[in-house]
Amino acid sequence: MPSLFTKIMNREIPAEIVYEDQFVVAFKDISPQAPVHLLIVPRTEVSGLSTLPEGDGDHQHILSAAKKIGEMLHLEGGYRVVINQGPDAGQTVDHLHAHFLAGRPLGWPPG
Ligand code: AMP
Repeated sequence: MPSLFTKIMNREIPAEIVYEDQFVVAFKDISPQAPVHLLIVPRTEVSGLSTLPEGDGDHQHILSAAKKIGEMLHLEGGYRVVINQGPDAGQTVDHLHAHFLAGRPLGWPPG
């Protein structure tokens, strides 16, 4: 069964896609927690960070995509990139993804 995020990437479920390349797609979170809240999702489905195969190359592109998005959106003031792994971290969609948050001061530590 393709994940919710794979369906978004395949345009079977609507979402506002703001960036995509060969490896990842980034779209607006449906329940934004900051003025800018995107999800950066690898095209290859892996359920989470804990199941990422050793030596996997494609998923490393999450970080380079985040850097490009920061530049594209002129977020010189900064941004935060977060991966929730597992129930204790609040992971709800079992397709590895990074949250990209910006546009307000972001408290630390996160809740
Ligand atoms: P996580 O809790 O880390 O697994 O993050 C899952 C995220 O997916 C949450 O922030 C949700 O708001 C977001 N989300 C769920 N369904 C959709 C959707 N259809 N389009 C965009 N974002 C979604």
